Amino acid sequence: LKSMSIEALHSAVRDIPDFPKPGIVFKDITPVLSHPTLFRQAITLLCETAADSPIDKVVGIDARGFIFAAAVADRLNAGFIPIRKAGKLPWKTRGLAYALEYGEATVEIHEDAITPGERVLLVDDLLATGGTAAAAIRLIQGLGGDLVAASFLIELDFLQGRQQLGDVRIESVLRYG
Ligand code: AMP
Repeated sequence: LKSMSIEALHSAVRDIPDFPKPGIVFKDITPVLSHPTLFRQAITLLCETAADSPIDKVVGIDARGFIFAAAVADRLNAGFIPIRKAGKLPWKTRGLAYALEYGEATVEIHEDAITPGERVLLVDDLLATGGTAAAAIRLIQGLGGDLVAASFLIELDFLQGRQQLGDVRIESVLRYG
């Protein structure tokens, strides 16, 4: 049953060549979101990545990560915490700049979003080079969060993003080699 869900999710994810720029194959997850049972199955599989441990906070990354992380938080009876691009969060923030393919980006978290020792699950739609997730992990750990795992709907294995994430437990539902 689980392999049938994974197969169905694989078929639903749509490859968009040369978006947002030449050479990038964009993984479009909107067909998963718009399908009533596939979205639920995606959330179930993401929740299984933390099945053995209670979670206090689920952290989602701006913007597609919010969709998955919020649903996972609801399912796990946990709180939801957003990590956003610089300048979007209204309260006091901790920020971190990280390198992109071209240039730099900064992500932020509210400084009171996580209490030291809380058990945290990081969720995003896709792990590519790992720069975004690495910055998120440092923000979570900088607030004293106990990062249980980082869970992704999609992992692009060929970009070796997990090598940027240290010894964090990394789980992904769909992998592309
Ligand atoms: P990275 O920091 O390289 O791991 O990029 C991760 C972020 O960029 C994720 O939040 C994704 O939403 C987005 N992203 C990067 N590459 C792709 C891709 N090929 N298809 C869809 N989203 C992508």
